[in-house]
Amino acid sequence: MNIFDMTIHALHAALKGKRVSSVEATTAMLERISSVEPQVGSFITVTPEQALAAAAAADQRIARGDCDLLTGIPLAIKDIFLTEGVRTTCGSRILDNFIPPYSATSWEMLRGCGAVLLGKLNQDEFAMGSSNESSAYGTTRNPWNTDYIPGGSSGGSAAAVAASEAVATLGTDTGGSIRQPASHCGCVGLKPTYGRVSRYGVIAYASSLDQVGPLTRDVADCATMLGAIAGHDHKDSTSVDTPVPDYSSSLTHGVKGLKIGLPKEYFISGLDADVQVAMDAAIETYRRLGAEFVDVSLPHTDYAVATYYLIATAEASSNLARYDGVRFGHRAEAEGLLEMYTKSRSEGFGVEVKRRIMLGTYALSSGYYDAYYVKAQKVRTLIMNDFTTAFADVDVMLTPVAPTAAFKIGEKVNDPLQMYLSDIFTIPVNLAGTCAMSLPAGFSAAGLPIGLQLIGKPFGEETILQAGYAFEQATEWHTRKATI
Ligand code: GLN
Repeated sequence: MNIFDMTIHALHAALKGKRVSSVEATTAMLERISSVEPQVGSFITVTPEQALAAAAAADQRIARGDCDLLTGIPLAIKDIFLTEGVRTTCGSRILDNFIPPYSATSWEMLRGCGAVLLGKLNQDEFAMGSSNESSAYGTTRNPWNTDYIPGGSSGGSAAAVAASEAVATLGTDTGGSIRQPASHCGCVGLKPTYGRVSRYGVIAYASSLDQVGPLTRDVADCATMLGAIAGHDHKDSTSVDTPVPDYSSSLTHGVKGLKIGLPKEYFISGLDADVQVAMDAAIETYRRLGAEFVDVSLPHTDYAVATYYLIATAEASSNLARYDGVRFGHRAEAEGLLEMYTKSRSEGFGVEVKRRIMLGTYALSSGYYDAYYVKAQKVRTLIMNDFTTAFADVDVMLTPVAPTAAFKIGEKVNDPLQMYLSDIFTIPVNLAGTCAMSLPAGFSAAGLPIGLQLIGKPFGEETILQAGYAFEQATEWHTRKATI
């Protein structure tokens, strides 16, 4: 097997058994990146020198017998994570030359385990998008078929795993940005419960919804990555101080007697036929493995997209006010202060970001605040209550991740509403604040991957990982590789 195709656990075994060094593995990954990047474009910045230095340090650590599961493993992370001394753009022109003075906690935790950073991955600008087309650094392409989008906003994070440009990656998910690209690129992606992973040093889009999570080749790797980044951080007051389970040790518990809910609002008649076939087959597989299915209802699902686009844009309009040309990144030439602010923001932000700042500012403005923002918060509570009620009867829920497989580049870029609807099955989970995972469950007629979503109770990551692992062991979807 090629080194660059290995999982974390396979590469860890090879490193520990001294069959390969981290410098060799990192070199293989960097060569792989050079050879496929012209077609895929997953990276905004590649950091070869730092990567090789970190790999050499990891090799010394391994030689001393200090070999954590992630020691010496070459990873890459979305360009939304601050990385000390390494350019961090968040996919925006406004941060084109921004070099952060400190790193995100989640990356610090991986680095502390001895992981190697290969570089920073492409994404929609400020994580606003479902296709990677809003990035100021070009559109990442889907490794399964480069005419198609990889999904978004963590499109580079999913494409890099699918194209074997990194062993695993980190992304962020505000309304589906880990799960939808994982589904479109055929990898495993997990959005943890709000508060499970620190958001410190993650460039904020919508602070009440954003969460950090892994994208990996299989469920065991996902458990490893989550275990490494989860936990309380005193630098993020929304991170929760509950114990982090050993996600890896309970993976093999199986699904016998597990109660899986099928929310009827997610199996609508408009669902793509290929997606429906994959869901039916997955349900069959779980039945065979001994799980029980229960019909449940999430009655306010219809309002989720509208609610999300009020809350997320309101928070974004406030979060993005800090990019004023004074403190960060791009500053325009101008006569006076006001003109400098206006020109810096006009030149620095792309159209989607401007659209959302305007929507959010409008929803928060006096006279409209109660009608839009406050109303959306009330509906959010109803959506949360839907989940609490449904979870009284079931352990997990099974749904599609997205209504279709990946679409073609350019297909929805001029129709924001259509683009927003790509996330109808992922957004409610963020509004409810709970956890969910996407895992490979089939292919469309056009040969593009289709993902299955397992939604867990708050802090129920262990259960969805177990259920995901059982499915993965019983199917072979995760073993297929893009032929890029
Ligand atoms: N596609 C959704 C949006 O554009 C979700 C993005 C995300 O999760 N960051 O807002």
